[in-house]
Amino acid sequence: LQVPNMPKIPYMTGDGVGIDIMPAMIEIVDTAVYKAYKGERKMIWTEVLAGEKAFDETGDYLPEATLTALTENLIAIKGPLMTPIAGGFRSLNVTLRQKFDLFANVRPVIYFTGVDSPVKHPEKVNMTIFRENTEDIYAGIEFESESTEALRLIEILKTDFGIKKIRFDKTSAIGIKPVSPEGTKRLVRAAFDHAIANGQNRLTLVHKGNIMKFTEGGFKKWGYEVASDYPTFTVNAFNSIKARQGIEAAKAAKDQAMADGKIYVDDAIADNFLQQILLNPSDYQVVATLNLNGDYISDALAAQVGGIGISPGANINFITGHAIFEATHGTAPDIAGLGVANPSSLILSSVMMLDFMGWHEAGKLVKKALATAIADGQTTQDLGGNLTTVAFMRAMIGKM
Ligand code: NAD
Repeated sequence: LQVPNMPKIPYMTGDGVGIDIMPAMIEIVDTAVYKAYKGERKMIWTEVLAGEKAFDETGDYLPEATLTALTENLIAIKGPLMTPIAGGFRSLNVTLRQKFDLFANVRPVIYFTGVDSPVKHPEKVNMTIFRENTEDIYAGIEFESESTEALRLIEILKTDFGIKKIRFDKTSAIGIKPVSPEGTKRLVRAAFDHAIANGQNRLTLVHKGNIMKFTEGGFKKWGYEVASDYPTFTVNAFNSIKARQGIEAAKAAKDQAMADGKIYVDDAIADNFLQQILLNPSDYQVVATLNLNGDYISDALAAQVGGIGISPGANINFITGHAIFEATHGTAPDIAGLGVANPSSLILSSVMMLDFMGWHEAGKLVKKALATAIADGQTTQDLGGNLTTVAFMRAMIGKM
């Protein structure tokens, strides 16, 4: 990605606690960029409207001007957006993902010393989840019970496809689960590219292909097809050596392949995977999965490191370069505007943004300042501390 020294970065403050956390993030990033590049590089922040603020000012939750700015500038960052009750949107977030075909939801999950965790060894978690963002049962193709569409689909399934085994009647609601080879492959390629760029040598495809053979099973099959384009050692190779020469020979071959810089690729059934990340989290690094599995897995993992409120995320189209970095929590209406919200999720998303831009030096400064502030017990109320949003921001700037 070619990034100028003074890139224009559209930002959406968002609703609720957006007004608390967005200014803190901007000040921290500006400080880090200045420290890292001595004034040679600088963000040109440009506010674009979305959500309630946009509706109040323009009558539109997602104004055309915002979409134009996001089209012209590849990279943007956003606070949380409330889901409008009216206005024809299922969700503003989903609309943005679909509009820019942001097919990968990327969620790094790591533990910061000092954060309360419900598990004994949260430090063993260091994973990045690549969740497919546009397909699956989550694509929004569903029809209400007794709607014309549901009735018609039920009729077609019964008469044209002879499906009798499932109880279809006019009270059934219907959802469609599209999963395509290309949709899967572009996501899995992004996950491999990430593993290679970050020197990680373990990638796991997570699916429910044992039950949903063509959709989730397709994801697994197409995922392994992508693996063959990369320097990998797959579980299939492992099993075939094991069958011929025994487990020790298979383990030795796997260790040798990984020492040679190959990525060990396997797959896991989603329900078992949710157990494995609790039992053996250090066995996993990069995870590629379908939309709904990814939704559950990312939040479960975030909770495991105590970081549900400080987990970063991004929605990225790795082909066009469009990327929206975001706070993963909601608008927190109970504390909005009180100046006490934790800005860490948005700040860590800005680290992902700096890394995406290739501004790694600035990203490292921000991440280290956040880690040391938290380790020193300088935290906001949600993490057991007593700092306001601004005081936490100042503590971080002090660390830089
Ligand atoms: P929420 O994340 O807003 O709040 C859940 C709890 O976490 C609340 O107690 C809140 O105070 C706390 N919390 C959240 N962020 C915090 C922060 N930065 N610092 C300290 N505490 C924090 O979830 P919700 O109440 O279910 O959703 C509220 C609204 O947000 C809804 O309209 C929902 O649609 C929207 N939402 C938006 C996004 C997004 O834009 N990415 C994500 C989730 C929910």
